Amino acid sequence: TYSIVEKTKAKIKLYRKNMNLIKDNLTFNFKFIITLFLVATLLYSIVFYLVGMSELSVISFLGIFIYFISLKAIDDNNYDRAFFLAHLHIVISSMLATTILGWDYGFYLIIIAIASTTYLNIFRKRIINYLLAGFDFIGFIVVYMISNVYFPKEPGDFSQIFYLSNLAFLLFLFAMIFKIYNTVNQINIKDLHKHKNELRTASQTDHLTGLINKRALHSILTKKHNKTITIAMCDIDNFKSINDKFGHNIGDEVLKTLAQIFTDNANKSDIVCRWGGEEFVIVATNTSRNNFITQIQNIRFIINKTPVKVSTDRSIHFTVTFGISDSGTDPDKLTDQADKRLYKGKRSVKNCIITK
Ligand code: GH3
Ligand code: MG
Ligand code: MG
Repeated sequence: TYSIVEKTKAKIKLYRKNMNLIKDNLTFNFKFIITLFLVATLLYSIVFYLVGMSELSVISFLGIFIYFISLKAIDDNNYDRAFFLAHLHIVISSMLATTILGWDYGFYLIIIAIASTTYLNIFRKRIINYLLAGFDFIGFIVVYMISNVYFPKEPGDFSQIFYLSNLAFLLFLFAMIFKIYNTVNQINIKDLHKHKNELRTASQTDHLTGLINKRALHSILTKKHNKTITIAMCDIDNFKSINDKFGHNIGDEVLKTLAQIFTDNANKSDIVCRWGGEEFVIVATNTSRNNFITQIQNIRFIINKTPVKVSTDRSIHFTVTFGISDSGTDPDKLTDQADKRLYKGKRSVKNCIITK
């Protein structure tokens, strides 16, 4: 009965667990990247200082503060701020380094590396991605023109070492980007699965009672092809007057109470379904017809005894009528038969079970 609902709940729980793992993984990767930037900027700052390029040393040193702010922003789940600041710092300092030192030091490689992070679509506002990518592109062209066309410089003493370390930075960042890209994709795929599951549950369950609906019952019975089943169809007696006297909310309470009674007293192998308005269907899939009838008699007895609160000091009782089919293998025929017997009961005394 509740298997679809329970299965979905279990799936959603598992999904949340997986999702948290993946999100932790993503946060970890983002932090790792920013920490990488932090270490790199610190190292560059020291190296620039040692080789006497004090203005570049200061610019790099500023990065340390920026990356601490970025790490904090990641903790606050503000990836936008973290990566916007980091991005700008790296690109601007690489542009300055390329301009001051010349093309051969390879700082332009870092601009390329950072520009490629815009593929990650980290920013909630797409436009920021485009603006940053545009900024990187124009920055690249500008430093290219300055250091190759207008003010070309001879390679310096350390240009090869700088070139290689910048290349290493670029390759390492590419590897990280692919890793993150993969994680982001996993999140998207899981999101899709979650929506699919939610849609399926919504299309197969009745929101008010949590029972499966007619559509779900139909697909379950189609799968139980050729299995012997017995069908009980149930309709609340004089439900319209309950609605009229006490309002639709109380009517809904009655429906929920009835659904609860069914699920509490059904066998595990029974299928309970809200067939329509105030009509319910119970399908016995693994019980002899006689036992099923006894079970339904017991359920009717419980219904008669179960009060529904209509106000703080008043409760009402309600009754239902059942039609029970023969046992057989054709769900449509059996449903029809149960329905006919139900209406036979309605035309007589109601609050009864018609089995013939
Ligand atoms: P009978 O004993 O012959 O079954 O009489 P009845 O009044 O129960 O039958 P009828 O078919 O005339 O009324 C069914 C009512 O069920 C009409 C409709 O307003 C009400 N109903 C259907 N779905 C819902 C629901 O989800 N909530 C509430 N509160 N009422 C509903
Ligand atoms: Mg009715
Ligand atoms: Mg009805």
